[in-house]
Amino acid sequence: MNIILFGPPAAGKGTQAKRLVTQRGMTQLSTGDMLRAARTSGSELGKRVAGIMDRGELVSDAIVIALIEEALPSASGGAIFDGFPRTVAQAEALDDLLASKGARIDTVLRLKVDDEALVARVAKRFEEEGRSDDNPESFKVRLEAYNAQTAPLLPHYMAQGKLVELDGMASIDQVASQIDKALDGVTV
Ligand code: ADP
Repeated sequence: MNIILFGPPAAGKGTQAKRLVTQRGMTQLSTGDMLRAARTSGSELGKRVAGIMDRGELVSDAIVIALIEEALPSASGGAIFDGFPRTVAQAEALDDLLASKGARIDTVLRLKVDDEALVARVAKRFEEEGRSDDNPESFKVRLEAYNAQTAPLLPHYMAQGKLVELDGMASIDQVASQIDKALDGVTV
């Protein structure tokens, strides 16, 4: 089973992905984590994306599609796409990539969270972890990028009959049980 965790920045996608990895043996493919790892390693790619990420903007489709293409063969137990796709071009590339392997996205779990709650979560995370793109200005840009470039993917997955809407304002455990219910209803 391959799934997408979909939602705005700080919706809780990473938290839920990590639980699914532990409990279901799936593989998390987070483009954000891959890009941050590139930065930490000091690679050319890391240097190219650092400023873009810190401003809260999206890096190019070509870069993230290449990262996913490279990581996909190691996704045993099914893939959890987290933070990808974020644009229509990325969604189309993902559909094509999976189709070329005789695979597909089975379900798209959308975590719905109010903007106000997101801003509060990120302010707390910025204090605790100091992630450079969690500062208020960059976070505003990230939310705008989500609304302008990523939210338009919802009709793409709705049309494919794959979209499941979940209440991301609930507690971590409650979100987890909503996810379990949704996934256990999926036949693959
Ligand atoms: P968030 O917590 O906002 O969901 P991520 O950790 O997924 O953030 O991503 C952090 C940053 O990495 C984004 O703001 C963007 O600059 C870059 N990024 C991650 N995934 C993508 C993607 N699929 N397309 C373009 N840029 C991406």
